[in-house]
Amino acid sequence: MSNDQLISIVVPVFNEESNIAPLVKRLQQSLKGISHEIILVDDGSTDRTVSEIKKITKKNSSVKLVSFYRNFGHQMALSAGYQIAQGGCVVSLDADLQDPPEIIPQMVEKWKKGAKIVYAKRNTREVDGFMKKWTASVFYKFMNFLSDTPIPDDVGDYRLMDRTVVDMVNHLSEQSLFWRGLAAWGGYPSDFVYFKREKRNAGKTHYTLGKMINFALEGITAFSIKPLRLATFLGFISATVGFLGVIYAILGKIFLPSYWVTGWAALFVGIMFIGGVQLITIGIIGEYIAHIYKEVQNRPRYLIKEKVNV
Ligand code: UDP
Ligand code: MG
Repeated sequence: MSNDQLISIVVPVFNEESNIAPLVKRLQQSLKGISHEIILVDDGSTDRTVSEIKKITKKNSSVKLVSFYRNFGHQMALSAGYQIAQGGCVVSLDADLQDPPEIIPQMVEKWKKGAKIVYAKRNTREVDGFMKKWTASVFYKFMNFLSDTPIPDDVGDYRLMDRTVVDMVNHLSEQSLFWRGLAAWGGYPSDFVYFKREKRNAGKTHYTLGKMINFALEGITAFSIKPLRLATFLGFISATVGFLGVIYAILGKIFLPSYWVTGWAALFVGIMFIGGVQLITIGIIGEYIAHIYKEVQNRPRYLIKEKVNV
């Protein structure tokens, strides 16, 4: 049963041993006078993260731990947190203190004024490297171009969701969880609180470029079928180019027989072009088949090894 007076904080943690103590301390300072629970979802950490969390859960029952058997991924950890949270609203944030907990009271204020979702929006990204900034900006632009559900840009997984929204997402059965999209999908009234993204407190990012590309592909294919249309268009374009090439070849043969030299270069370019279009198209279809495959398998999203104070 949910408790409207309570604010739930959900933090996915994966190998964040040095960040646990400072994180909980700053959360508790920011939440003074607000009834709250802090749910730390350990996504199969292999360092001392779990024992660091247990030091705190022993002394303080409002700090809770859910631990997975293995690494199931950031979005899955969030999903477990949403299932367990009891509060009238749930705030999710990263464990590395890049998302400053001090703005949570402002988010709660906006929620009390009626917003069902309050996004924490980064107004600067000066601490992130060029690559991160650039990939993030390309990702949001591309995502919103393709998707039927626009997601606000420069918004990560730091957000507050009202109980109504949490109940909605908890009832979704889909396997590909892309929370930024799912939260926006409902069209609930939303608001923003701005903050400056800080440097990672300790450790290093778990999102390499490869992981980010996967994340982007997952996000796009979970929310839009436009890439499939794009594949069809690509097919039409390449067929048209091919057809024009045929006409050109025939006319050349008839009117300029002496100049007409059939070059291997033209052949090579043609084959590469058609081959490329075909592979891209198959790849796009494959992405969607992969989604269908995962949905049909319908495996559990994560496996819980241990719960403390839950
Ligand atoms: N995280 C997770 N599972 C993973 C990767 C990351 O639970 O497989 C957590 C991580 O501990 C952190 C948050 O997700 O709390 C964001 O990760 P990170 O800071 O590495 O990403 P970045 O801020 O660089 O995008
Ligand atoms: Mg981070």
